[in-house]
Amino acid sequence: MARALAAAGERDFLLLEAAAGAGGTWRHNTYPGVACDAPSHLYSFAGRPGSWSRRFAPGAEILAYLEECAEELDAHGQVRYGARVEQASWNGRGWELGLADGSRVESQLLVLATGQLDRPAVPDLPGLDSFPGPVVHTARWRHDLELDGLRVGVLGTGASAVQVVPALAGRARHLTVFQRSAGYVFPKPDTVYGPFVQWLHRHVPPSTMLPRLAISSLFNVFSRGFWQAPRLLRPMERAHARALARAVPDPAVRDALTPRDRAGCKRMLVSSDFHPAFARSDVTLDASGVLAIEGSTVRTAAGAHELDVLVLATGFDTRLSRPAVDAVGRDGRRLSEQWARGASAYLGMSVPGFPNLFLGYGPNTNLGSGSIVQMLEAAATHVVAACDLLDRHPGSALEVREEVYDGHVAWLRRRQRRTVWMSGCASWYLDESGLDTHNWPATPAAYRRQARRVDLSTYRLT
Ligand code: NAP
Repeated sequence: MARALAAAGERDFLLLEAAAGAGGTWRHNTYPGVACDAPSHLYSFAGRPGSWSRRFAPGAEILAYLEECAEELDAHGQVRYGARVEQASWNGRGWELGLADGSRVESQLLVLATGQLDRPAVPDLPGLDSFPGPVVHTARWRHDLELDGLRVGVLGTGASAVQVVPALAGRARHLTVFQRSAGYVFPKPDTVYGPFVQWLHRHVPPSTMLPRLAISSLFNVFSRGFWQAPRLLRPMERAHARALARAVPDPAVRDALTPRDRAGCKRMLVSSDFHPAFARSDVTLDASGVLAIEGSTVRTAAGAHELDVLVLATGFDTRLSRPAVDAVGRDGRRLSEQWARGASAYLGMSVPGFPNLFLGYGPNTNLGSGSIVQMLEAAATHVVAACDLLDRHPGSALEVREEVYDGHVAWLRRRQRRTVWMSGCASWYLDESGLDTHNWPATPAAYRRQARRVDLSTYRLT
């Protein structure tokens, strides 16, 4: 967002970040094995290539990249860290923000870019508090944690687990993985970039632009499998089965690692070393279901496991109806009230009753695969265009037209009925009522096209 504003010549902005530094999810997720499961050429900003050592960059490289980008922007002191926003209210002219340290900030326009995956979810398991050893969530890793030679349990088999499990296998004396339901895992087509290729990426722009274009076009086609033509995902189901058969000799373990739902229903997983970990004698899969924790014993339907350390790879509280900052809009209405029956926003960004408020990575802007960076960049273009429109109408505010918002939500709900995301499995995409409040049911290119348009047919001036 800040890069887009700066590129458009807009200098009067301030970034407020609760953490002590830049990086967001890549700052918080530093568990062993953390890496991107989207190709880095696409998981970087357009026109700002990174120095990637591999096709799927490790988390530390992405964090360094984001820190560099933030430093480039901070030339004018426009980034404030350790600045947790607790309140945001519309006062008729602009937004008044209340920070945790008691200070206040006023702004004409506000972008809430607090993400969809920022609150670690701790499972409500009976007896979890009684576990005597360390309990660590993947999104809040403790680097002082002793693991070598200990009995370690990992709860969960999602996107974080498929990375942390292979990294812990062989380090722990014994690793026990507790699975609730299996996911589709595809081999990661990773490769190392040697010094010459890295030099090319830095100095010859087409060497990153062409792969970026190719990968993005591929994902545009592939995305149709989620919301239009599920048969496009069939090859992924077969690829999963082939890789599993090659990696795991034990038929019972293979069966447990075979998903019961359709590919794409839950977030698809990318790893070449997750399944092979279960061929090791020092790794056990228990897919029977955790019943309770009694001291250092994790009791499941199949038996009991004595553990020293428990790793929670259990994901995030993704209920958007509980926004990180519960903005109070025109007429004193809260975002959480507006969203009580399901979070939604025009293009994931604008909500009637909330003038000059835009959401970053808002409702229904997530992708089942590909790179979220593209979606965030498209949203940033929208906000820059909104700033332009405001500049042309001084003293006004912009509010999405009710009928445009309603039309967008009706379009989303119609399309969602046919998507694989709502085909019957439980996932973090769905809210309490089973509604998909997270995914974009069209191509990323369609989102970019729609997001470019900001005019008085979609917004009204107030
Ligand atoms: P997740 O996909 O929500 O996975 C959580 C895992 O914990 C699931 O296997 C879930 O089982 C299990 N679980 C949750 N509560 C449980 C309970 N009470 N008892 C037993 N098992 C429980 O979370 P995540 O792996 O952290 O990933 C979240 C999202 O972050 C991903 O989908 C992705 O968008 C993003 N991410 C991206 C990357 C990347 O490389 N780009 C890496 C990590 C994460 P069920 O499957 O049965 O629900």
